[in-house]
Amino acid sequence: IVKVGRGPIKLRSMERINRVKPEINKRPPIVTIMGHVDHGKTSLLEALLETTLTSTEIGGITQRISSHSLVFEGRKLTFVDTPGHEAFLAMRQRGGQLADIILLVVAGSEGVRPQTQEAINHIKSTKAAVIVVLSKKDLPDFNADQAKRQLADNGILVEGYGGKTPVAEVSTKDKVSLKKLLELIILLSDITEYGGTNEDALEALVIESLLDRKKGPLALVVLRSGVLKVGQEIFCGESYGRIKSLTDESGRSFSALSSGEAAWILGFNKPPQVGSLVQFQEVSEASGTQKEATKRLGSGEKLPDSDGLKVIMKAESQGTLEAVESCLSKIASQGKSLSIVSTGVGDINNSDVYLAADTGSIICGFRVKVLGSAKELALERGVDITTYDIIYKLLSEVEQALLGLSRWQKRTAKPAAEILEIFPLPSGDLVLGFRLKNGAFRVGQAAVIKRGEDEIFKSTIKTLKIGKNKVEKIIAPSEGGVLLEQRLTEDQVAVGDELTII
Ligand code: GDP
Repeated sequence: IVKVGRGPIKLRSMERINRVKPEINKRPPIVTIMGHVDHGKTSLLEALLETTLTSTEIGGITQRISSHSLVFEGRKLTFVDTPGHEAFLAMRQRGGQLADIILLVVAGSEGVRPQTQEAINHIKSTKAAVIVVLSKKDLPDFNADQAKRQLADNGILVEGYGGKTPVAEVSTKDKVSLKKLLELIILLSDITEYGGTNEDALEALVIESLLDRKKGPLALVVLRSGVLKVGQEIFCGESYGRIKSLTDESGRSFSALSSGEAAWILGFNKPPQVGSLVQFQEVSEASGTQKEATKRLGSGEKLPDSDGLKVIMKAESQGTLEAVESCLSKIASQGKSLSIVSTGVGDINNSDVYLAADTGSIICGFRVKVLGSAKELALERGVDITTYDIIYKLLSEVEQALLGLSRWQKRTAKPAAEILEIFPLPSGDLVLGFRLKNGAFRVGQAAVIKRGEDEIFKSTIKTLKIGKNKVEKIIAPSEGGVLLEQRLTEDQVAVGDELTII
């Protein structure tokens, strides 16, 4: 027992000795770039890679984490490019956790900004080595001293400012400082202790996942240790499958992935959740219930509990849709009554509203718009549409709704009005004065008068009035008067009956 206990201690101290001197046989370091939006992260990576990443971005903001391999002076470096958007804070944090080295980019012309501070908070929570990159050196208002002072105020003490954190001053236009930065990364990786070899247990983190229309589910995975090979059976949270192919960002494919490398895995049954770890299939039987939950959600099948929250999910892209869906399916696998009735990419349109009205669902949009006509239709049908820009707001509202704390429960009901008064007109017609509680009424709609569960009288809305004014529609909450197309007699309706839309 004593021998076994001492084994690892011996090994660790050996490793420590080995790592004092530069070790070029170590796996490639995993490098993450963090910092405030527009401070030049993408341009820096682009300049380092000498490729064009920016052209693939939407709206100038990097929405996806991507990974790139780079070889400098015979040494391989794996870059994980993390987005600088608040909504993807968690993603970025995962990017940081997996990194051995973090490049903290601060524009020398602007200094420390809110997202720089977020990145600093994150840096303080990891063991990764840090290089401060003062970018945009070519600009006239570049002020290294100011930036360094602000960094010191935030607890990052750089060389020359009472600390040891290395600093590189760069301009993406100037190739000299970029080369120096790469040399600095290699130097730092040589003197930094980070574990992970091909012989170690698998530690493979999903940093991006999406559903490719042609290829199917794809997962971008960074390997901190171990090896992944084509043909292996793997699982990852609620997703599982066999590795069909491993390809890098530029489309090159490999038969195996070594530690310190990154690649897209093709072969999962559905995109795995970003931030989860890939494991070998032997262990996967334990997650059978999760698999079931995922299958149910994936097929759009409704969960048995009809009182549960039903969601129609729309998102700006397949990638973000999958990310949101995967978070929602996690909530569903925790036993909450949530079912995803349908998902889709693009703006919220009339057919989404019809489906929501038919199924009693709410519509959630992530970074999409609601088309004008769909907005009106939703009001009429009492369908709740909410759009979000920040994933965590969406998820927390869904969770609130599942706890029964949300306004959603009330607003998913059909348009409904209580009849308050009945006025006979000289023509013999009856005008019904009502209070509309949900949704909207519009001229021409088919309506029904109900008493309890009984349908008493069916007709269509001929005219609507608010006070003395004729209107085309009335939106809840509001009071108004309605004249129905078919003649109604006083014994067919009573105060307290409900008027609703069919
Ligand atoms: P990110 O949001 O941090 O990824 O920032 P980007 O890489 O998209 O850069 C934001 C803006 O700064 C772009 O307009 C770039 O052209 C510009 N930029 C980036 N690096 C430099 C630089 O070294 N010098 C100058 N003058 N502009 C730069």
